[in-house]
Amino acid sequence: MANATPVRVRFCPSPTGNPHVGLVRTALFNWAYARHNEGTLVFRIEDTDAARDSEESYEQLLDSMRWLGFDWDEGPEVGGPHAPYRQSQRMDVYKDVAAKLIDGGYAYPCYCTTEELDARREAARAAGKPSGYDGHCRDLTAEQIQAYEAEGRKHIIRFRMPDEATTFTDLVRGEITVQAENVTDYGIVRANGAPLYTLVNPVDDALMEITHVLRGEDLLSSTPRQIALYKALIELGIAKGIPEFGHLPYVMGEGNKKLSKRDPQASLNLYRERGFLPEGLLNYLSLLGWSFSADQDVFSIPDMVAKFDLADVNANPARFDLKKAEAINADHIRMLDVKTFAEACEPWLRAPHANWAPEEFDEAAWQAIAPHAQTRLKVLSEITDNVDFLFRAEPVFDEPSWTKAMKEGSDALLRTARAKLDAADWTSPESLKEAVLAAGEEHGLKLGKAQAPVRVAVTGRTIGLPLFESLEILGKEKALTRIDAALAKLTA
Ligand code: GLU
Ligand code: ZN
Repeated sequence: MANATPVRVRFCPSPTGNPHVGLVRTALFNWAYARHNEGTLVFRIEDTDAARDSEESYEQLLDSMRWLGFDWDEGPEVGGPHAPYRQSQRMDVYKDVAAKLIDGGYAYPCYCTTEELDARREAARAAGKPSGYDGHCRDLTAEQIQAYEAEGRKHIIRFRMPDEATTFTDLVRGEITVQAENVTDYGIVRANGAPLYTLVNPVDDALMEITHVLRGEDLLSSTPRQIALYKALIELGIAKGIPEFGHLPYVMGEGNKKLSKRDPQASLNLYRERGFLPEGLLNYLSLLGWSFSADQDVFSIPDMVAKFDLADVNANPARFDLKKAEAINADHIRMLDVKTFAEACEPWLRAPHANWAPEEFDEAAWQAIAPHAQTRLKVLSEITDNVDFLFRAEPVFDEPSWTKAMKEGSDALLRTARAKLDAADWTSPESLKEAVLAAGEEHGLKLGKAQAPVRVAVTGRTIGLPLFESLEILGKEKALTRIDAALAKLTA
C-alpha cells in the first residue's frame, strides 16, 4: 500500500553506550512503518555530543541494527542523497542555518549568565510567575550587545518562540495544545558554538524531508518548539513542510518505574548474550504499545510489517515483562527448522565454558539431541546446561538436584532400574521407558518419581531434556556406568 506522499521516516539515535530496548522498539516501529508503506527509512547518527559519543558506540550501534535484521535506505554504509548521515560531519550545515535564523530575526544571541538566569528564575517562582526564560535578551540594541561583548561575556543562541499556542495532532495521542507561556525561548547553539539537539534534530528532519517523526513519549515536550522552528525554516525556504508526529508510549520496568537506559534489563546486549533470537525479541518489543490481534501474541516479523499501522499504537504506558519476552522467544525457537536451530546454538556450544572441554564435543550426539533441545529452550544460552551430560566423561552432580532426587530407597530403585535397563532395547526410547516404569511399579512409584533418580544419575540434574531419548543418545554403556557411579555415591 503506497501512500500518496511517499513516507520518509527516520531512526536517529545518539551512539552512547549500549543500545537499550526502548531504542530498539523505536527503531522497529519506524522500520515497520517504512516497510509497510513502501517508504524510506533514514538512519541518522546524532553524534554532536563529542564528550559522550564514541567511535566504539557507533560501531556497536550499527552491529546491533544489523543483528536485529534492520535495513535502511539512507544512512551509514549505504549513503543517500542527503549524506553525510552522521551529524558530527554536518557542522557547517548547522552553522549556516543558525546564521540564517539570526538574520531572519527568528533567533538571537543571549548573554545571560547561568547565575543571572537562576536568580531570575527563583524570583519568578517566588512571585508565582512562569519560570522559563523571561525574554531578557530578545530585543537587545547594538549598543547593549557591544557592551556585553566588551565585558567579555559569551552568548548562546536562542530561538524566539512565537506568542501563540501550538496545536498539533499526534498520530498516537490525538490533538495536543500547548500554551505559549509553557514554551519559552530556548537555546539552539551553545556558547562555544556547538549546535544543540534542539537545532540539529529538526534541521536534519527538514533537510532530509522526513514526513513522520515516530519517537518516544519523553520527547513530546520538545515538539511545540520543533514545530515553531519548522515554521521558521519554511519561511526561510529550508523546510518544505512540517512532519507529522507520533509519540510512542513509555516502557515501564520493575516497580512500575520508567525503564531507564541504565537499567541492566534495558540493555540489548543482555538479550543477545542470553540467546534471544532477533525475531523473538522484536516480536516481543512490538507488543510494547502495539498489538497484532486480540488473540495472537506470536507472529513473524514479515507478518508484523504487513499489519503494522499507527492507528493500532496505544498511548498507554507499556510494561516490560521478561517472562513474556522469554515465552515468545521460546515459540520462535520452536518455529526454526532444526538445522537453523542447531546452527544458532553453535556460538554457545563452541564458546569456551566450564560444561565440557572442546575435545569432548560429539557432533553426532549433538545432531541427535538437537530436535529434543529445540522444544525446551527459552533462550539459546540454556543449551549448554541441557546437553552437557552427553559430552562430559563423568556427569557432574548438581547438588540441589541430588538432594531433591535421591531419597530413602533411591538406591534400591536404581538397582532395579539398572537391571531392567540392561535388558531393554536401547534403540527404542519406548523400551527404556517401559524399563523405568516397571522398576517404579516394583517399588510402588509412579513414573515421575521413578525417573527422577535415574535422570540425576545420568544427567546430573532433575530438569532436562526428555529422559528416554537422552538415554538412547547417550548409549547403554555410559548410562549404566553412571547409574553404577551414583549407586556407589549413595552407598558410600
Ligand atoms: N537523538 C535523539 C535521541 O536519541 C533522537 C530523538 C528524536 O527521535 O527526535 O533521543
Ligand atoms: Zn539572555
